[in-house]
Formats: sequence, C-alpha cells, structure tokens
Amino acid sequence: MTGETPGLATILIGDDPASAVYVAAKRRACGEAGIRSFHHELAASAGRDEVHGLIDRLNRDPRVSGILCQLPLPPHLDPAETTNRIAPDKDVDGLTVASAGRLAVGLDGLRPCTPSGVMHLLEDAGVELRGALAVVLGRSNLFGKPMAQMLLAADATVVACHRRTPDLPGLCRQADVLVAAVGRPALVQADWVKPGAAVIDVGINRTPSSPGLVGDVDFEAVAPVAGAITPVPGGVGPMTIACLLRNTLQAARTTSG
Ligand code: NAP
Repeated sequence: MTGETPGLATILIGDDPASAVYVAAKRRACGEAGIRSFHHELAASAGRDEVHGLIDRLNRDPRVSGILCQLPLPPHLDPAETTNRIAPDKDVDGLTVASAGRLAVGLDGLRPCTPSGVMHLLEDAGVELRGALAVVLGRSNLFGKPMAQMLLAADATVVACHRRTPDLPGLCRQADVLVAAVGRPALVQADWVKPGAAVIDVGINRTPSSPGLVGDVDFEAVAPVAGAITPVPGGVGPMTIACLLRNTLQAARTTSG
C-alpha cells in the first residue's frame, strides 16, 4: 500500500458514439472503485502534435497511474504510433509494443484487458486449459493475438483463425475452448461446437432490430450444446472494464515505486 489514490486518464478523440459510451462506462467504474478519473476530449480534427503533447503531459503527471486512448481514432491519426506514445508503465490497455513483447516472451507486464477478462472467466468456470485444444477466431493485435498467447501460456494447444482459415466449422468442432472475436453476428452455430465445450463470445455487433447488440455466437442455438457460454451483452464486456481497473491499480503500484 502506498497511500496514493490510483488515477486513470482517458482520452477520447472525435465523436464516435460507441467510443463515448465505452469511455463513460470506464469512467463510471473508476468512480465506483475509488480510482481518480482524468478525462480529456479532443476534437476529431485534433492533430498528431496535439495528441502526442497531451500523452506526453500525462506520461509525466504523477497523479496519473494509467492512460487509455480510446480506439478507433479518426483516420488521420495512426493508432499504433498514438498508442506507443503511452509510457509502458502507464499502458493500462496493454497495447503498446512494449506490453505486447512482454506478453510474447512471458515477462510480467500490463496485459490487454479483454483477453485477461476471458482468462478470468475461464478460470472462474473451472475450465481446464492444460492440454485443452483452444480455437481463437480472430487475430487482431487488440484481442486475437494476445488471447492466443495467454491460452498458450496456460498450456492450451492453440489454433488462431482468420479469414483465410479453411474449414472453420470443422476446426471449431474440435475445440474444448472456443473464443469468437470476429465481429460477425451469429457466425458460430450449434453444429460448430463440440458438446460440452466452453464458448466465449467476444463479439459486439450492433443490429438495427431488437435486441440491438449481438455477439459472434448464436447464443440460443449454441447454449444447449456448450458446457459453458458467455452472453452478449453482459459476458466479456464487464470483465474488460474490471481488468482495466485492475491494470490501473497494478500500474499505480509500479509507478509509485
Ligand atoms: P478486428 O480487428 O476487426 O479483427 C477481426 C478478426 O476477425 C480478423 O483477424 C479477421 O481476419 C477475423 N475475421 C473476420 N471475419 C471473419 C470470418 N468470416 N471468418 C474468420 N475470421 C474472420 O476486430 P477486433 O478488434 O479483434 O474485435 C473483434 C470483435 O470483438 C468485434 O465485434 C469487437 O467489437 C469485439 N470486441 C469486444 C470487446 C469487449 O470488451 N467485449 C473488446 C474488443 C473487441 P483477418 O485478420 O484475416 O482479416
């Protein structure tokens, strides 16, 4: 214990409505957890120098334990360059090259929030990962790649899939653990799932009709086949926020020495 209150700086650039909702939820969670919130909103036209200047100031600010720059960014800003401006010790999204490298070689560090949340869910459900076959649908830097690495580190045998993967249904049917993060509504059907498998639905897809938000898994069809399954909304999403708060606390402990 250091006696210092952890602080999370959030940066929202532009007027993407979904990003505004996500950042508001993260700030609300900070308030509930006793973490100070420092929020910065920049116009969609904000230039590279303005954004980098803000991140540099936050990197130096001792009240700020963690910095989160909400993605996606307006098209004129490079997301990799912007993210990598964040000091690795304050990278609570775990998305800088430094954090990705630490995960890849098995060093301690700040881990990406959504795959960390999935690992907690699997552990909480008592899913045995050692020796399990885990199939991850999606290979993004944000989710798929770190997810695959965390499962591998937990001694699962991992298959990372993407658009060019042949016979997705056949591969998925062999999985003890199936994690879907592709952004395709109800892509995963009941006949893609091995009976008793743990199915984690990371997808968030907005539909014009009710229920509004759906995942990548056809929940109604898959639930009777799966041994465990997460719903959308209410499954992985809240875990992402919980892991962000946890990372902020971890960063506060690190930065305060
Ligand atoms: P992304 O960057 O668009 O990556 C999507 C991945 O899915 C890519 O690797 C793509 O393959 C693959 N893919 C797309 N369509 C496919 C298909 N028909 N068959 C096989 N693979 C396919 O997306 P992301 O950022 O990883 O996010 C994925 C989903 O998770 C989105 O719905 C997003 O909203 C959601 N998400 C949720 C949370 C949360 O907190 N719950 C957090 C992050 C993301 P290629 O590489 O070949 O293009």
